Amino acid sequence: MCGIVGYIGQRDCADVLMDGLEKLEYRGYDSAGIAVFENDVIKTVKSSGKLEVMQKKLIEQGKPVGHCGIGHTRWATHGEPNDINSHPHSNGRVTLVHNGIIENYIQLKEFLTEKGYKFTSQTDSEVVACLIDYYYSERNPLRAITETVKELEGNYALGIIFKDFPDRVYATRKGCPLIAGLGEGENFIASDIPAFLKYTKK
Ligand code: GLU
Repeated sequence: MCGIVGYIGQRDCADVLMDGLEKLEYRGYDSAGIAVFENDVIKTVKSSGKLEVMQKKLIEQGKPVGHCGIGHTRWATHGEPNDINSHPHSNGRVTLVHNGIIENYIQLKEFLTEKGYKFTSQTDSEVVACLIDYYYSERNPLRAITETVKELEGNYALGIIFKDFPDRVYATRKGCPLIAGLGEGENFIASDIPAFLKYTKK
């Protein structure tokens, strides 16, 4: 189990994500990370270890300042818990956080490698980012995600952002929990209610 959070609204996104991840700590994790649009560019900060390590890294590297982004606490299943394997993962025009296991990731990785994609992590999750990028064309994220999930075997909750769309967070799930929270002029996704309960009950 791990935790996923996503936010779009007027608040400081990094703060909302880190606060949400703290509320999901009970689910267990070995690494954490966030990706936030700062001036339309995705800035990612991630680290193995507890959220305190992430907080320190955010101070050292500078907290990304923006209003739209995704966050993750990881419970490693594919690849050791290190900084590179921590989520979010980016490949091509896609950045995502993933909870779950993609059973056919080796076949998909072989297919994508033949198409020229390169991978930086050992995770099954990066393969999903890659596959979404492969299907992404004509600025149509929904079609790319729809085509991708048809190919996935296993369980997943996904929070996804596209470099072309700095004001959107996409989400989809199968067999892993993921809920949407609707606020006034802001919206949330999370693995569980406590992550955004102080902002909305809807
Ligand atoms: N399978 C993914 C990984 O190993 C996600 C694990 C999780 O659910 O935290 O990175």
